[in-house]
Amino acid sequence: MTYVTLLGRSNADNIDLMNVATAVKILYHHTTHPPREEESAPLLEVMYFFLMCDYAKLPLKKLYGGQDGRGAGLYRFCKYCWRTAIPGRLICYEHASVVVDGSAEVPAALATEAKTPASRRKQANRQKQDFDAAISELMTKEVMEFHESEFTADALLPKSNRRDWLTRRRPRVAKLLAQASVTVTDSNIIEHLLALLHHSGSMPGVWRSTYGRVNTTIIEVPELIWPILVRAESWLLVRDRTRNNWGGKRENSGRPKSR
Ligand SMILES: [Zn+2]
Repeated sequence: MTYVTLLGRSNADNIDLMNVATAVKILYHHTTHPPREEESAPLLEVMYFFLMCDYAKLPLKKLYGGQDGRGAGLYRFCKYCWRTAIPGRLICYEHASVVVDGSAEVPAALATEAKTPASRRKQANRQKQDFDAAISELMTKEVMEFHESEFTADALLPKSNRRDWLTRRRPRVAKLLAQASVTVTDSNIIEHLLALLHHSGSMPGVWRSTYGRVNTTIIEVPELIWPILVRAESWLLVRDRTRNNWGGKRENSGRPKSR
């Protein structure tokens, strides 16, 4: 509650209050062992999204700001990624598949990541802390920019030139979209992004319908995709950094060079 109150009062422009809120959240999370699960705490990127919508006079908070996006299932994110968590769990189908179905296939463009469900889960665990930090970094940067521009910066998804916006603001997601080799327009970009990032593919029915409900809502109100893109971009950033580290280790492996 303190975390939410502080964030709310920060109005997304008081950096000190935002930092204290983050500290409260970290303390709350880590003062038990194992750490407390953050089941009902609103996410940073979701709170800031709705705050910026308010400033930009987009009435989305009223319509979708409540718990679970007013029944649309919005923003009940998997704690490891940008996908919707399966009902009653904190993880998505992809990250749960190690316990649900060992043979589950990863749908769509990200199938090249970790090959088996067990290694996906392990990778997700290893990256969790960096993933959360990347989201927080991106949010701080964009919220400050938005505020300093007196709410005129195009931080939120625009109505036109959406692909340019994506390339500037979410370059890694844009690259993924480019690899899909589809013809992208302002009116179909959201569907293409959802097909890449939030495809229900071979999931069992009840989970497929959860994804379907989320996707339908976002196609109706494209601006709502924003928190998903924040999480996907942050996830891809951490993935790229991890890969570069591997490369670095290979280059510097062997005997240390004398200086
Ligand atoms: Zn996930």
